[in-house]
Amino acid sequence: MTDSPATATAPAPLGSAVPSTVPTHWYNLAADLPEPVPPALHPGTQEPLGPDDLAPLFPMALIMQEVSTERYVQIPEAVREVYALWRPSPLIRARRLEKALGTPAKIFYKYEGVSPAGSHKPNTAVAQAYYNAAEGIAKLTTETGAGQWGASLSMACALFGLECEVWQVRASYDSKPYRRMQMEVYGGTCHPSPSELTEAGRAMLAKDPDTTGSLGMAISEAVEMAATDPRAHYSLGSVLNHVLLHQTVIGQEALAQLDEIGEQADWVFGCAGGGSNLGGLSFPFLGRNLRDGTTTKVVACEPASCPSLTQGEYRYDFGDVAGLTPLLKMHTLGKDFVPPPIHAGGLRYHGMAPMVSHAKELGLLDAVAIDQDTAFAAGLIFARSEAIIPAPESTHAVAGAIARAREATTDETIVIGLSGNGVLDLPAYHDYV
Ligand SMILES: *Cc1c(COP(=O)(O)O)cnc(C)c1O
Repeated sequence: MTDSPATATAPAPLGSAVPSTVPTHWYNLAADLPEPVPPALHPGTQEPLGPDDLAPLFPMALIMQEVSTERYVQIPEAVREVYALWRPSPLIRARRLEKALGTPAKIFYKYEGVSPAGSHKPNTAVAQAYYNAAEGIAKLTTETGAGQWGASLSMACALFGLECEVWQVRASYDSKPYRRMQMEVYGGTCHPSPSELTEAGRAMLAKDPDTTGSLGMAISEAVEMAATDPRAHYSLGSVLNHVLLHQTVIGQEALAQLDEIGEQADWVFGCAGGGSNLGGLSFPFLGRNLRDGTTTKVVACEPASCPSLTQGEYRYDFGDVAGLTPLLKMHTLGKDFVPPPIHAGGLRYHGMAPMVSHAKELGLLDAVAIDQDTAFAAGLIFARSEAIIPAPESTHAVAGAIARAREATTDETIVIGLSGNGVLDLPAYHDYV
């Protein structure tokens, strides 16, 4: 970047005391993997990507995290202070669920729905906003589907004094207004995609004025806007290594919370869309397996209608429809795959995080596909026993865990990643009931 203001300084911490239970470092699974994760490739040359290729879109600190193999990355104090608003998130024993199932298993859930945005996404949004502000960037652009990511990034940008411009898939923009309103409350700007504001959007509208849009198109618009504005960077809410790195606060806390009560996880279940909450929860457990020989089993729970890990090919593919993004080695259904409009909007992505895909190839974790009715049925069982209404995405993890608990014959320990709450998704439950 040639246009970074010379005055850029890291946002200073407020000086408030952060409890020691909020992690001080992010954990990087790359340090403990027996084989390195295949690198991202340049879409034109097909050569491994260099830092300069990404500099127009991301701050250097995040680019370095993307390729880092150091085991621990220190969390800036100003980020820990924001985390402390809701972290550590609770790890709760689901005794009423155990009773409802009649299982001898001990079930715990790690609840990320306590964040202000209602999901795990602020764990990386806050870190990304911090590093961009530190590099003197004034605005972040991004895409969003159902709106969880746009709302989380708008929140984080408000806290670090950045503008936030979001392109939301037209179909969701029209049918799911509450997260757009959340973005507006935080000072973010939300456009329906495709829009007249970008070349990519105008071309799409010229072809089909009535299109309902797609995540791939929204990515193209957000990337174009960031690439053509020296004050702006682009931000991604899942899939990339640095995003999964930031999410490892979840798993590190869960490990410490289990240690404190003398429990060891036999199973970890997480839902998987792009792979960030699953990676964030499970990678610290996998790291302990690899270093200390523990045997926690990790299961990624994905929707049967978008089954990248269980049905996709493991190969290089683009992250977007237009083929503008770097090539990532991942389990993919193909960049042109259009998932059906299921209620778990956050799980509708054609690919899977390269680190999660690699871990699956190495046999470090397993995956199951769960159909929408089974997921919602599990969500209702959970809501009616534990009182929390899980996000439609999270119900997939709940369903995976319930299936295991029903098979259990001993007091094995099961941990569920409850990635978010479903209070803004009640129409989806209403449709199911
Ligand atoms: C976005 C979202 C997901 C899916 O994203 P991952 O990157 O796979 O974690 C899951 N749960 C909730 C609540 C979400 O908002």
